Amino acid sequence: MDISRLLKNIPAAKLLQQHFNNHLFDTLIFYYHQSLLTLSSCDLCGSSCEKYRQLCQYCHQDLPLFQFKDVQGDLLNWPAIYKNLPNINFDQLLCLAPHQMPFSHWISQLKYQGRFELAQLFGHLLADTISQLINTKKLSTPEMIVSVPLHISRWQSRGFNQAHLIAKQLQKHLARQAINIDYCSTLITRPKKTEQQVGQSGQQRRKRLRTAFQLNNTVSLAEHILLVDDVVTTGTTVSEISTLLKNHGVKTVTVVAITLAMPNDKNK
Ligand SMILES: [Zn+2]
Repeated sequence: MDISRLLKNIPAAKLLQQHFNNHLFDTLIFYYHQSLLTLSSCDLCGSSCEKYRQLCQYCHQDLPLFQFKDVQGDLLNWPAIYKNLPNINFDQLLCLAPHQMPFSHWISQLKYQGRFELAQLFGHLLADTISQLINTKKLSTPEMIVSVPLHISRWQSRGFNQAHLIAKQLQKHLARQAINIDYCSTLITRPKKTEQQVGQSGQQRRKRLRTAFQLNNTVSLAEHILLVDDVVTTGTTVSEISTLLKNHGVKTVTVVAITLAMPNDKNK
């Protein structure tokens, strides 16, 4: 947002401008803008933030992020990860980090305390990773973004779907980097309620999820779809959605999540 232009359209600011010369007015705007910037402080250390509204540059450097250059832009190229995700039916996996602090804590805060600003941070971090992979040709540009839906009863009790909030922010932050991909929030629904999946084997999860999802529009599906979730564990949920999409002509599904919680992670 261009604050200086915005303020110049406000009558009180116009009045101020008439009483000061333009240079002084711009100086005032500059200090006002700087004071707004310092209002956003780092969620981890309290320092002022620049690029990310909730994270200072030093804490950003210390995040335990996956290094995609080591795996040619796809976590499925990492044997330790691939062998822990049997029977998956998607083509590429991008997660920001293993399911550990601070991400595990942030995801809980988003889901259970409604800290929606964290969806903005996740969307921004994901957009940076994805744009870098597109620019280095490690990822072909997807034509559509979708998110893992919640069943209506879960959505009503929680009041929001965290995967939807993240996908929305991802779309917005990619667009700021001139990567314009449509986000289709209503393409997939979850008409069938499934039990909590914690503690179930992959086979049990697949069986329960097989008919849980539904496509609302099969007319103009994209060839390459980006499927967004918050956490990938066994990969069963995203894999079942991927199967559904591919049964309707989608060729490539890239799964995007904040964290990857491997089966032996203790803090998922
Ligand atoms: Zn910090």
